[in-house]
Amino acid sequence: MIIDGKSLSKEIQREIARFTSSLTDRRPCLAVILVGNDPASEIYVNTKTKTCAKTGILSVKDNLPSHVSEEILLQKIDELNRNPLIDGILVQAPLPSHINTNKINFAISPEKDVDGFHPVNLGKLMLNDDSGFIPCTPLGIRVMLAKNNISVKGKHVVIVGRSVIVGKPMASLLLQKGEGGDATVTVVHKHTPDLEQICREADILISATGMPGFIKGSMVKQGAVVIDVGINRVPCPDDVRGYKIVGDVDFDAVKEKCSLITPVPGGVGPMTIAMLLNNTVKSFTRRRPDLCKNTFSCY
Ligand code: NDP
Repeated sequence: MIIDGKSLSKEIQREIARFTSSLTDRRPCLAVILVGNDPASEIYVNTKTKTCAKTGILSVKDNLPSHVSEEILLQKIDELNRNPLIDGILVQAPLPSHINTNKINFAISPEKDVDGFHPVNLGKLMLNDDSGFIPCTPLGIRVMLAKNNISVKGKHVVIVGRSVIVGKPMASLLLQKGEGGDATVTVVHKHTPDLEQICREADILISATGMPGFIKGSMVKQGAVVIDVGINRVPCPDDVRGYKIVGDVDFDAVKEKCSLITPVPGGVGPMTIAMLLNNTVKSFTRRRPDLCKNTFSCY
C-alpha cells in the first residue's frame, strides 16, 4: 500500500489556512534566502513560497548572487532576526562552497529557525525538549507514520544516510522516549559493512542517500515499511523537462515486498513543506500569542 504524503500535506495545509484566516492583525511571515541560481533550489524555494501563499502565510524572498560574501549574508540574516514582522527564516541549501553553512545556521535566531538546524534547536531535540523546532523532513516522517497508525515503538528502524538535515535528527526523534519514539535505531552510511544485511533486518527502512535505485527489492524484509526521502533527477526523454524525479528506492521491485511505501514524488517531499509551514505558524503563535484568537495545535 502507498502512503499518500501529498493528501496528508494538503490536509495539514487546510488546517493552517483555517488558522491564518482567523487572524485579523497580521499573518505569520517566512523569509527565504536563496543564494545563486541552482535550478533545483529555485524550484524548492518557489514551491515553498507558493504553498505559503495558499495557506495564508506571508513570505519574503531574497535572491542573492552566488558570489555574495558571507559577511553580506550574515548582515541579511541579522536584519531578518531583528525584524519583528518576520517569524521564520530559511536559508536554502546547498550554499556555495565559499560560505560556511554552519556559520549561517548559527547566525539565525533559534526562535526563528523554522528549519531546526541551529545548535540550540538540535540540542533541544537531543534533550527531548519540545520548546525548539524539529527539522522539517524528520518531523514530516514522524507525522506521516503516526497518521498512518504505524507505531515505531520497539521496532527496528534502519536509516540509510547520516546528514544533519535528515539522518541524524531522524535518529534522535525515533530514539526519544514516549509517543512517536521508543524505536531501536541503526544508522548506516558509506562506511558501513554489511549494509544490505542490516537493511534486510529493518521493520521500518528510511532511505536518504540521493542515490536513485539504491534500495533494491533484495534489501527489504517482507512486510517492512519503506520511507523514501530521496529526490533525484534522472534523464527521461519522454518527459518535456528531459528528466523525471525519482527516490532512492527501486519502487516497482520494493513495493512487492513491503507492506507500506512512500512514493516519490508525493511522499516525504510534501510533508517536509507542510512541516515548514507548521514551524512558521508555531513560531508566530509563540511570538505573538496576543494576536491569536483561535488555537493551532502544532506538530
Ligand atoms: P547528504 O548528501 O547530505 O547525505 C547523504 C547520506 O547518504 C550520507 O550520509 C551518505 O553517507 C549516505 N550515502 C550516500 N551514498 C551511499 C552509499 N552508496 N552507501 C551508503 N550510504 C550512502 O544528503 P541529504 O541527507 O541532504 O539528502 C539525501 C537525499 O534526500 C537527497 O536525494 C535529497 O535531495 C533528499 N532530500 C529530500 C527531502 C524531502 O523533503 N523529501 C529533504 C531533504 C533531502 P556518508 O555520510 O558516508 O557520505
